[in-house]
Amino acid sequence: MILIVDDKPENIYSLELLLKGKNFAVDTALSGEEALKKVLRNDYALIILDVQMPGIDGFEVAETLSGFSKSKDIPIIFLSAVNTDKKFITKGYASGGIDYITKPVDPDILLLKVKTFYRLYEQTLALNETQQTLRNEIEIRKKAQAELTERVNYLHLILESLPQIAFTANEIGEIDFVNDKWFSYATSATSFPLTHPEDPCIKEEWANAMLHHIPLELEVRIKEINEDSFRFHLLRIMPILENENISKWVGTFTDIDDRKLIEKKKDEFLSIASHELKTPLTSIKAYTQLLGRSAPPEKEYTFNKYVNKVQTQVSKLNSLVTDLLDISKIDNGKLRMNMQAFDFETLLANVIDTIYHTHENIAMKIERTGNSIEEPITADEIRIEQVLINYLTNAIKYAPNTDKIIINTSTDLNLLKIEVTDFGIGIPEHKQPDIFNKFYRVEETSLKFQGLGIGLYICSEIIRQHRGTFGLYSEVGKGSTFYFTLPLN
Ligand code: ADP
Repeated sequence: MILIVDDKPENIYSLELLLKGKNFAVDTALSGEEALKKVLRNDYALIILDVQMPGIDGFEVAETLSGFSKSKDIPIIFLSAVNTDKKFITKGYASGGIDYITKPVDPDILLLKVKTFYRLYEQTLALNETQQTLRNEIEIRKKAQAELTERVNYLHLILESLPQIAFTANEIGEIDFVNDKWFSYATSATSFPLTHPEDPCIKEEWANAMLHHIPLELEVRIKEINEDSFRFHLLRIMPILENENISKWVGTFTDIDDRKLIEKKKDEFLSIASHELKTPLTSIKAYTQLLGRSAPPEKEYTFNKYVNKVQTQVSKLNSLVTDLLDISKIDNGKLRMNMQAFDFETLLANVIDTIYHTHENIAMKIERTGNSIEEPITADEIRIEQVLINYLTNAIKYAPNTDKIIINTSTDLNLLKIEVTDFGIGIPEHKQPDIFNKFYRVEETSLKFQGLGIGLYICSEIIRQHRGTFGLYSEVGKGSTFYFTLPLN
């Protein structure tokens, strides 16, 4: 809107007519005082100001306007009878656009100047708006930066108070903070402590984790700068996500050397104990067999009944000891597979026979579905038998009071898949990932069913050595399907 200020209504009228004719919005004031009041109340793009007015004259109005932040940028066109002292005008109104027109007003020149100032005003407005947006943006960024710095400082404070070695890195894995403890192990703040020559390279393992956007968990041996011996540490590097992108990594090295030592001692004890148990057990087995054959004829029935019971218990003990021996073989990397071609269908039939034979007192039927395997399989027959017996024994054990188990076999793209399904107690979903771990048993049911939690671990190791896969589908109360696959070639 344009404000026309003149004490003579006829002057105002002609100017108003001229400007309205060109579609400008116009407001008017008949004195300097009125003009000042209006300027404070409304927004004007331009003021056309008569210089000679009674009361406050045009120059004084301009000077007053220049003192208000609201009006200091409004352009002014002075109307004066004579070409008045321009220097005074410019001084009084230094920051605004200034021009003057002498009376009588030439309409063409006035319109030209009005248009120019109007455009100038619009541009100034746009510029101010952009500036304001920029200022807001800067404010927001400053605030975000301050918050981020505060969070980072807080994180560093926490990491500093940890008993572990701790560090953070940026999204591309450049270390940008290390706690005090770091310097007991590393000579520089940007490179990892020295690892044992036989251990995996931290940088390579982490690069791989970064590539897949996953946390890294690694057992490595590192040593204190002034020490000679390496100690086992668990290195964990977790990504921190912001808007689903990795913005940082936080890492810790936790000393697990004592725990590893205890684990090693336990493994050694198990290994020695199972070896030592095996020899007397083998003799007991042999002598009970001899005993069975030498029963006195008059007491043959009761005698054999008792000997059979001893034999069953001895063979249970034998399989426990064999499992423990297998565990120590796995721990020492000595579980070797003896690969030979054999007929899978014969093996399966034998396994089912054995299961019926060893579980005479249960009324479960083992159903066979899927296609029969015609081609010979190359694998360790005894070990595959062990896996099948383990899956089936579990299916019987963990499905009491049910009447069937299904064994399904299928082949697909050079792969043999064997599934054992029961309709028993099932396994909660959150426990399923751990089922094949060493000594793992589902807590809720562990008291009701006897076991050591090593059968499936041994199975997983056997299948792994055959380059096969294993897993399960299960629903609590409905049953479980345990499967494994073997490559056919
Ligand atoms: P064990 O049976 O001697 O405890 P396993 O290694 O064979 O050891 O099995 C580990 C755990 O997995 C078991 O303790 C049990 O909790 C669970 N499990 C295995 N098979 C089944 C199954 N068919 N149904 C339900 N739970 C099972």
